[in-house]
Amino acid sequence: NESLLKIKDLTIHYVTEDGRVRAVEDMSITIGKGETLGLVGETGAGKTTTALGIMQLVPNPPGKIISGEIIFEGENLIGKSPAELRKIRGNKISMIFQDPMTSLNPVMTVGDQIAEVIKLHQKVSGGEAVIKAQEMLDTVGIPMERYKEYPHQFSGGMRQRVVIAIALACNPKLLIADEPTTALDVTIQAQVLNLMKKLKEEYETSMIMITHDLGIVAEICDKVAIMYAGNVVEYTDAESLFLSPKHPYTIGLFNSIPNIEEDVEALEPIKGLMPDPTNLPNGCSFHPRCPRATAACSERQPKSIEVAEGHFVFCLLYEHQLQLGGILDDQKI
Ligand code: SF4
Repeated sequence: NESLLKIKDLTIHYVTEDGRVRAVEDMSITIGKGETLGLVGETGAGKTTTALGIMQLVPNPPGKIISGEIIFEGENLIGKSPAELRKIRGNKISMIFQDPMTSLNPVMTVGDQIAEVIKLHQKVSGGEAVIKAQEMLDTVGIPMERYKEYPHQFSGGMRQRVVIAIALACNPKLLIADEPTTALDVTIQAQVLNLMKKLKEEYETSMIMITHDLGIVAEICDKVAIMYAGNVVEYTDAESLFLSPKHPYTIGLFNSIPNIEEDVEALEPIKGLMPDPTNLPNGCSFHPRCPRATAACSERQPKSIEVAEGHFVFCLLYEHQLQLGGILDDQKI
């Protein structure tokens, strides 16, 4: 699969009065055309900063891209002029946020908002833009009669549909969705997710789905990057992750998912909290919470180990396994 976006060794820091926040460290991921990548982790893991990095919208100061490359359609976005970036944002890369109200104009009808984006990006006449906007409303499941209503007249789920319509109106190559369903109730969440799935198939848009919910990953993602304290700790295709999670943090995430078939008592949430981002522990950042930690884990940072084709894990356990003869035996891990 040809790659659309390739992030190489990306490092983004925020320099604040309280110290340096290592929001993203040495991240490398690739997204192919039509592929959906799940970026998974707790609040503060670096998911949103990664998205802002791709959009070149990291607030500077206090944020700064320290190093790395963001190659989109063969060109590095880092170092592009503000005018070039404006063309790419909205046109080729769109973003959907958790709270739809942040991206809607409260004093403009939803239909006009969609039509305006279409006019801007597709260079069509006002009349054509209105017709296309009506089609977009239909695509996202909003009755056309609501064209002339304002955002406050819509429910949360309907507003998010409007935002999706706006994001798709310019037919982006890449759609970044930052927890797009978190603010919605469960039934509506499922509807919005189904809509995104349908659109992904119809439009062949590549997507980055930022979420803390592995259920969403199972529904929609082809690949997954699990993030912890600014680092990608496991990176693979979704199937391998669900069949055979490797990193102790990933395994902890699976163990803490409520399962209606099992006794709730069996839930084992990951103990402790994410470390202070201005004062990360030495060695592996996960070591204070890791049930498998050894003395080496507080001394040395894990390197990327390819445990199976295309399945990368950043954990010393697997480095040891490799040193012990190169054969990875899950029973020993
Ligand atoms: Fe746990 Fe050590 Fe692996 Fe980190 S490197 S995840 S502390 S076993």
